[in-house]
Amino acid sequence: MELLKQRILEDGRIEEGNILKVDNFLNHQLDINLLTEVGKEFTRLFADLGITKILTIEASGIAIASLTALQMDVPVVFAKKTQSKNLDNETWDAKVHSYTKGITYTIKVSKRYLSESDKVLIIDDFLANGQACLGLKEIVENSGAELKGVGIVIEKSFQQGAKMLKDAGINLHSLARIASIEDGSIDFVE
Ligand code: 5GP
Repeated sequence: MELLKQRILEDGRIEEGNILKVDNFLNHQLDINLLTEVGKEFTRLFADLGITKILTIEASGIAIASLTALQMDVPVVFAKKTQSKNLDNETWDAKVHSYTKGITYTIKVSKRYLSESDKVLIIDDFLANGQACLGLKEIVENSGAELKGVGIVIEKSFQQGAKMLKDAGINLHSLARIASIEDGSIDFVE
């Protein structure tokens, strides 16, 4: 997606540990016009799959998933990273190791909001080592729902996540694929 790649080149900052900061349009301040285009692109890429629900993970996935859901006219469910009194006792859980934070945490989705009849599209902001997506995939599978695809805004193709998901037979589409972020410069796969 050219518009997105352009924005990454203009506003992306590279930090230690191959972390790409895109705080001014994706991870802190949100550019709703750009994210609306992201939602339209995901809707085009995952058309005709009978998606009934979008699943994401808090916090950064929520805006992207919501703008995609608006186009697809389906609900969004987001996995929670912390236990709270508001969460039902009956949950589907999975463990996720965070690449950026260096910790493992449990993500949870109420059993009320995913069922065997659902055809699920997973949406997230970044794909690095694939741990967040694997956790969401595990929750979809445990619920008996069908995973129809994974949509990622920024894939760091030099890490192992994309290959792992494709090897697992997952229908993966990433809107910007980064081949390398060495020496302060960002190179895309295509
Ligand atoms: P994975 O589970 O694929 O290793 O990492 C995905 C998650 O880690 C994303 O949801 C995102 O929050 C975070 N992440 C991984 N790499 C980056 C990065 O380079 N920049 C930012 N902003 N987040 C990242």
